[in-house]
Parts: sequence; C-alpha cells; structure tokens
Amino acid sequence: MKRVLARLVALEVPPGRALAQLWALSERLIDPEAGRDFNQALMDLGATVCTPQNPACLICPWRSSCRAYNLNIQTQVPMSETRAPIPHKEIGVAVIWNDRGQVLIDRRKADGLLGGLWEFPGGKVEPDETIAACIQREIREELGIEIAVGDRLIVVDHAYTHFRVRLNVHHCRHLSGEPQAIACDEVRWVLLSELDAYPFPKANLQIIAALRQNNL
Ligand code: SF4
Repeated sequence: MKRVLARLVALEVPPGRALAQLWALSERLIDPEAGRDFNQALMDLGATVCTPQNPACLICPWRSSCRAYNLNIQTQVPMSETRAPIPHKEIGVAVIWNDRGQVLIDRRKADGLLGGLWEFPGGKVEPDETIAACIQREIREELGIEIAVGDRLIVVDHAYTHFRVRLNVHHCRHLSGEPQAIACDEVRWVLLSELDAYPFPKANLQIIAALRQNNL
C-alpha cells in the first residue's frame, strides 16, 4: 500500500521516512463510507497492477493522476531505505607547468586512499567555490606555491566503491615559491616523457593521455 501511495505522489524519500505524510494522504483519499473497500482495492492494485518491478501503468485506473507515472519515474519510486545516495566529490586538479616544460606531481601519503601513488595535485571544491579558486587554494595550502590557473584540460569522472569523483583538470603556470611536500610525501618536477616511470591511480592515467594528446 505504501508503494502505491508513494508512486501516486512521487514521494522523494523512502516511505519509512514519510509515514505521517502517507497516512494523511490515504485519509484524504478514503471515502469514509467505504474505508474497508478502499483499503482492499488499494491492496489489490498493489498486488496485481502497481507491482514492485514492472507496474502495469497502462491498465491502471490511477494513471492520469499518478505523479510517478507522469514523470516516468514509476520504477524508481518508492526509494529504497537502504540505497543511500552515493556521495559525489567535485575535485579541482592542477597540471602545473614550469619554464622548463616540466609538470609537478606529488606522491600521496602512504597510509591513505591510493597511498604511495603519484598524482597531479588538487583537492575538493568547497561549497560556492569556483574550480579555479579551489585549485589555487589547494596548491597554496598543500604545496606552498603560487600558480596561475589556465584552460581546462579534461574532466574525468571516476567511481570508487563508496563514492564518485569528478576531476576538473586545468593547465596551470607556476608563478612563485619552491614546492613543498606539505600534504603529501614527495613532490617532483618531471617531463611528460618521464611520467611512465611513476605509478598513478587509474583516473590520473586519463589526464596523462589527454596531456600527451595535447602535446603531440
Ligand atoms: S500509474 Fe503505475 S505507478 Fe502509478 S499507481 Fe498506477 S501502476 Fe502504480
């Protein structure tokens, strides 16, 4: 019954978190003279027409007023209690160039996620922060240098087991300061031709491929 009502209003949360709302809805729908019949009809509808996997909307008497059907989201409603949305992280990444045609890479701390692998530096975009501002801040905080953020090189979407990331990668120019390993284990200036000697996480390999294509 909860399933049918949740579809009727295209409920945006799992039914278990909106019991009062569903209860109020059923009270509004019920003809007080025929409450028992209404409940039975609703149960029959849920068992035969508005089924969990493939609701037979085309023969459903509620089709015209069913919000989930009209939004074409009937198979996504009701939302499952257990399926929490996968967190999504927006990341700003810098490919920092120096005057000698080298790029700056850093080795992640050994004990964290992807520990010991090399990467292009960057970090998480804060709320209301632009990608360019994020990159500039992260590089200042984590490497202690000033850069100018330039054109976008590539956007890489990557899914880990418990979250997804979007890497917004920009070409950057080194302006001042000696890079320091403040939030990583090591930093190095390297030529593109030397990158193969360093183990990178999978998502970074797409950045390297885009860089090479750009510099053909
Ligand atoms: S139209 Fe489809 S989703 Fe809506 S109540 Fe009927 S069977 Fe369920």
